[in-house]
Amino acid sequence: MLFRQLFDSQTGTYTYLLADTETGEAVMIDPVFEQARRDGALLGELGLSLLYTLETHIHADHVTGGWLLRKNTGSKIAVSADGGADGVDRLLADGDKIAFGDRYLSVKATPGHTAGCITFVLDTEKMAFTGDCLLIRGCGRTDFQGGDAGRMYQSIHTQIFTLPDDCLLYPGHDYRGLTTTSVAEEKAFNPRLGGQLSQSDFIGYMDNLGLDHPKKMDIAVPANLKCGRPGQGDIPDDEPDWANLTCTFAGIWEVQPLWLEEHPGVAQILDVRETDEFDGPLGRIHGATLIPLGDLAKRAAELDPERPIVAVCRAGGRSAQATIILRRAGFARIANLAGGMLRWRAQHCPVEGGRD
Ligand code: FE
Repeated sequence: MLFRQLFDSQTGTYTYLLADTETGEAVMIDPVFEQARRDGALLGELGLSLLYTLETHIHADHVTGGWLLRKNTGSKIAVSADGGADGVDRLLADGDKIAFGDRYLSVKATPGHTAGCITFVLDTEKMAFTGDCLLIRGCGRTDFQGGDAGRMYQSIHTQIFTLPDDCLLYPGHDYRGLTTTSVAEEKAFNPRLGGQLSQSDFIGYMDNLGLDHPKKMDIAVPANLKCGRPGQGDIPDDEPDWANLTCTFAGIWEVQPLWLEEHPGVAQILDVRETDEFDGPLGRIHGATLIPLGDLAKRAAELDPERPIVAVCRAGGRSAQATIILRRAGFARIANLAGGMLRWRAQHCPVEGGRD
């Protein structure tokens, strides 16, 4: 069997690819919308055909790549019948088996983080994919989306801790760099529900976490209830090939700072901040043309129509809007610099002017 653990650094999300090497049939657990191009390229290079995208639950922190991968690869979308999503090809319930080649994953209902959470267990019981139910030395929150700390405690103790001690557990997220754990480890060391901790200890702990809601929740939950299908016309059909671009769920093509740094001269750089920011402490990218966003519609003719354009601002918001204005003005090859000057500097790309 082939196994890959993939990571989305923007949301700390793990995506898992499993494939039967004899037949090339594959499944992917919890794909991320913005990584659909990466995932499609990997499937192509490994010669795999994606049968299913599988969701451990309706996520609140990222948009699933299920719909986009179905569009690009012909895969089917499988999610829990209890999740309430539209546009699903296969609804999953406890005890179901998802076959790929000669291998399969079994579905275990593990509600608690959300009402529709499921865990996928490999046929050998040597690997399980727990989503946001059991995390490494932690667990998912239980304070919205039908979450329930008592149900989570029961799910973990009756569905996950009953797996063999050496079964490896792969979570939906980790924000500290850990990648996997085991049933024995979590039984012994999970500070919320390992050792001698009781269900009432756990509920008391979970009821007092006091967390803010996830930043992307207002976008992610409604999008995931449609399996990651964007509003009509939000995904441009033409794949640009002038740069290594990814399309955001909002339909904006983005380029990462390191690609831009490594390909000087491919695109003209359009800075849409105000003059005092352009000359201010964050500095600017060498060779950037300054046209503040408010002037862009009437000054777009100053840009070279023959060269691609990368728009930049402080954090990537105004420059995303600039790509929309430029598209309306007739420019076709446009991308947003993901994360703006803040990410450019955080990744130690060279800056002109500015201060540390
Ligand atoms: Fe979650």
